[in-house]
Amino acid sequence: MFFQAHNTFKPLKKPPVGSRRHNLHQHASATLGAGPLHDAVKLPAGEDLYDWLAVNVTDFYNEISLLYGLLTGLCMASCCPNMTAGPCYEYKWADGNKIKKPIKCSAPRYMDLMMSWVQATLDDESIFPVRVGEPFPPNIRQVVCSIFKRLFRCYAHMYVHHFASLQEMGAEPHLNTCFRHFMLFVREFDLIDRAELAPLRELIDKQYSRSDEERTNERQQHQPPRVAVPICGECAMRA
Ligand code: ZN
Repeated sequence: MFFQAHNTFKPLKKPPVGSRRHNLHQHASATLGAGPLHDAVKLPAGEDLYDWLAVNVTDFYNEISLLYGLLTGLCMASCCPNMTAGPCYEYKWADGNKIKKPIKCSAPRYMDLMMSWVQATLDDESIFPVRVGEPFPPNIRQVVCSIFKRLFRCYAHMYVHHFASLQEMGAEPHLNTCFRHFMLFVREFDLIDRAELAPLRELIDKQYSRSDEERTNERQQHQPPRVAVPICGECAMRA
C-alpha cells in the first residue's frame, strides 16, 4: 500500500536568482549528496555565517514539513494530546510575542504554531535581510538557535512516538538521513544546548559513532520505500 504525504506546511521558497542567498543555496544543494555529510555542513570559505545558517534552516524546515506531513491522520490531538518526546519530556508553546506564557497543546497544534512561527520568522526581513549589505540584527544567533531547538522537538516527537509508523511506510532511511544532516549541522555550529538533545541522546550518539561509508552500506540494504517519500539529494545519491 502506498501512502501519500499531504497536508504539509507551505514550503519555504528558495532564494530567487540574483538574490543575496541564491548562490549559497545553489552551493548547499550541490554539495549535499556529492560527498560526506560532514563536509556538506561546513561554512563555505568567505561566506557570511548567518546567510549560511539562513539558507540551511530553510531546507531543514522544508524537510521536516514533508516528513511530518507523512503523519497526517496518525499524529492527532486524540492520540497525541500533549507535545511530548516520551514520558519525561513535554514541550509547551510560547513565541515570546503573541503567546508569552507557555501553553500546553497537542502535538499537531504545537506543530502548527511552531511551523507558522518559523515561517514568519524566516520571512521577516528585519531578522533575515534579503538585500546585499544589510546587517543581521544583534540577536540573530539567539533567533537561529530558537528555530533549531524547536525544529529538533519535532524530530524528537516523530522518533519517540511515530517511528514504527514511519518505518512501516518505508520512510525510515529518509528520516534518518534528514535527522543526521540536521544534527551534523547543529553540532558544527553549536546551535542547541546539550540538555535539549536528551530525548534522542542515544540515537545521536549512535549516529555520530558511524562513518558516512557505514551509513551508505546500511542504507543500500534497505528495501525501496513503500511510501511517496520526498527523497532529498543526499538519499538519492546514496540509496
Ligand atoms: Zn504525534
